[in-house]
Amino acid sequence: MATILDGKALAAKVKAEVREQAASFRQAPGLAVILVGDDPASRIYVNGKKRDCAECGFTSTEYHFDADVTMETLLALVDRLNRDPSVDGILCQLPLPAGLDEEKILLSIDPAKDVDCFHPYNVGRMLIGDSVFQPCTPAGVMRMLEEANISPDGKRCVVIGRSNIVGKPMGILLLQQNGTVTYCHSHTPNLAELTRQANILVTAVGKVGLITADMVKEGAVVVDVAMNRDEAGKLCGDVEFASVAEKAGYITPVPGGCGPMTRAMLMVNTLAAARLHGKE
Ligand code: NAP
Repeated sequence: MATILDGKALAAKVKAEVREQAASFRQAPGLAVILVGDDPASRIYVNGKKRDCAECGFTSTEYHFDADVTMETLLALVDRLNRDPSVDGILCQLPLPAGLDEEKILLSIDPAKDVDCFHPYNVGRMLIGDSVFQPCTPAGVMRMLEEANISPDGKRCVVIGRSNIVGKPMGILLLQQNGTVTYCHSHTPNLAELTRQANILVTAVGKVGLITADMVKEGAVVVDVAMNRDEAGKLCGDVEFASVAEKAGYITPVPGGCGPMTRAMLMVNTLAAARLHGKE
């Protein structure tokens, strides 16, 4: 039976570490969160981030707009937050309602306040291994591996998914730690042939039941980033948990794996931003 990589417990530990460090800062780190529209999932995420800030001793300010807000209003707000020294991190909750240009908003955020690590400047720095921020979800996975003393060095790592926020940076971080990385995506033929070779398998697709036990190598580390709903409306990942856990060496649960770690890494990035802004 696989060892469970408990993201919930580790996230609590990471946030406690962040809180302890922030307590010695001259000024509390500050996060600004922009929320547009009334998507219930986005509301839940934003509330969670505000709670995390309170837990870590950070200030947080929410800027909530109706879905018909103009680009001009949003860009003017970002410009003001970019110049506000009390704000260390600026986060625009995605997705934005139709008609708003997500890319333009993300590009307008000062890279030194881009705590989601979505700005191309920070993505480029991450690619060359010289980044202040790392994208929260892949960084959370790396921290879970580290905590369990699992080194990607020399391992065959297979990442399923190639989105800019999860799959692509996940592979880069594994590569930087000397993993031999293979990316899979919707055009990959014979997915199972590749996943069976993985010592470390990370799946970030969004498809219930995608990964079954026959696709997993005995003793492999299986990381499930996905957040799906099953037929009963229950939160689940891409991995058929019960059968894969019989075969894997380590496995992340959904919920309680990558989700809480993603939130914790946002706090790590906000602390790093405050340090960058001389608040230590
Ligand atoms: P995304 O942008 O939709 O990307 C999904 C990826 O999966 C794409 O690269 C796609 O390939 C690939 N794919 C689709 N069907 C496939 C198949 N049958 N076989 C192999 N690959 C396939 O999604 P995302 O934003 O990266 O998120 C992925 C999942 O992680 C979602 O469930 C999301 O909810 C979850 N998520 C979780 C967290 C967290 O905190 N735990 C954070 C972010 C996202 P193509 O590129 O060819 O289309």
